[in-house]
Amino acid sequence: MGISELASISITEAARKLGAKEISALDLVRACLKNIEVRDKSLNAYLEVFDDVEAQAKKADERRAKGESHPLLGIPFAIKDNILIKGRRAGAASKILEGYVASYDATVIKKLKDAGAIFLGRTNMDEFAHGSSTENSAYGPTKNPFDEERVPGGSSGGSAAALAAHMALGSLGTDTGGSIREPASFCGLVGLKPTYGAVSRSGLIAMGSSLDQAGPLTKTVADAELIFNTIKGEDPLDSTSIGEHTYAKKSAGRRIGVPRRLFVEGVDQDVLKNFETSLERLKKKGYEIVDIALPSASLALAVYYIVMPAEVSTNLARFDGVRYGLSLKGTSLYEDYAKTRGEGFGPEVRRRVMLGTYVLSAGYYDAYYGKATIARKQLAAEVTRVLEEVDCIANPTTPTPAFKIGEKSDPLSMYLADIFTVTANLTGNPAISIPMGSVTRDGKELPVGIQFTAAHGDEAALFAAGKALEEK
Ligand code: GLN
Repeated sequence: MGISELASISITEAARKLGAKEISALDLVRACLKNIEVRDKSLNAYLEVFDDVEAQAKKADERRAKGESHPLLGIPFAIKDNILIKGRRAGAASKILEGYVASYDATVIKKLKDAGAIFLGRTNMDEFAHGSSTENSAYGPTKNPFDEERVPGGSSGGSAAALAAHMALGSLGTDTGGSIREPASFCGLVGLKPTYGAVSRSGLIAMGSSLDQAGPLTKTVADAELIFNTIKGEDPLDSTSIGEHTYAKKSAGRRIGVPRRLFVEGVDQDVLKNFETSLERLKKKGYEIVDIALPSASLALAVYYIVMPAEVSTNLARFDGVRYGLSLKGTSLYEDYAKTRGEGFGPEVRRRVMLGTYVLSAGYYDAYYGKATIARKQLAAEVTRVLEEVDCIANPTTPTPAFKIGEKSDPLSMYLADIFTVTANLTGNPAISIPMGSVTRDGKELPVGIQFTAAHGDEAALFAAGKALEEK
């Protein structure tokens, strides 16, 4: 049985067809369900496919018949397992949340529901979003649709694989250090990490609260823009969320800065070749490419792997066997906690909680967390300064194409995959990954992405650069 082509179109194209009554939402979900049946047994992108998707589609078709016309009305989405949908299981791919059912909608979900989107199911991820490959899931790894021996990236790997294999038309991920952009790069998709605060974090299972943002994975830049415009906005439920007018509008300029000195080591030569070709194409579209220096960016990974675990250790303290999910009994309250957390959390999560409590502990706070905070400020100032001179910063999203499942068993080598993505989270800037062609490995074409970073609130510059690259 082949896959259904209907689910391979963009959201924008599907919205046009729905509007013209060429297809129904029911046709779209049936196409996705068929592709799930054909491919998901081996890809493992979905942790659960909801049993009411056809009913949701019928409702969307009824809303359209009554005159509603939002472009997301009737569009089937795959949702990462750390985003709450009221009445559904949510587990961040962790055993510790076994049996937990969400009691409210995340704000992003509420906004998609209002628009009429359909939720196909919840997607696999690295446990609590800790990882770059989706191998850290408690429910087995997700495979890359372009080569099933390879990872789809992470931590939003399930959302990326579901979309790349045409098992959804759009998906939501979360990005704390690259978890939307890296899987987008590995799966040939567009992935947007919005400006910190642009999208409400209410109803996301928190990882690093000063770093997390939810955002879209899509097939086209226009689709990412559409979803971003639907989910963004100030939210009384998230005090860090910001409104439309927080940042001054920038003029839509066409200067792109490239921090070439950061690419001297560890970046795959074929990835670099694709990157240079993409810059040439942007030049032809009227973009000016200039060299920039970002000296503190070489510290970004070290800073991230101090700040992030510190916040992880704090956020994950709530999983104690009393409030949510798994609850194991010992002979004392302390033992209840130790047993639940020891058995409920996987090895990477435990590693991060230990690292986090260490860098925050009285004796080491100044040496690690305090220093990292200073370096983070310096990095943010540097990025802001550069973005006064250029409209976007460009670099490869990842130093390599998708790696093999099991290849990065050493956690430090896995952390290196985030070298170009963590900066935007530390500084709060918006960043996007756009497909920039593919490289051949073992006879297979593996997609790779280019990342653009813009000033706070200037997602428009990212969409403009992305569209320029997308045009043939
Ligand atoms: N790969 C990074 C990490 O392991 C980023 C994760 C994320 O963005 N959620 O922390």
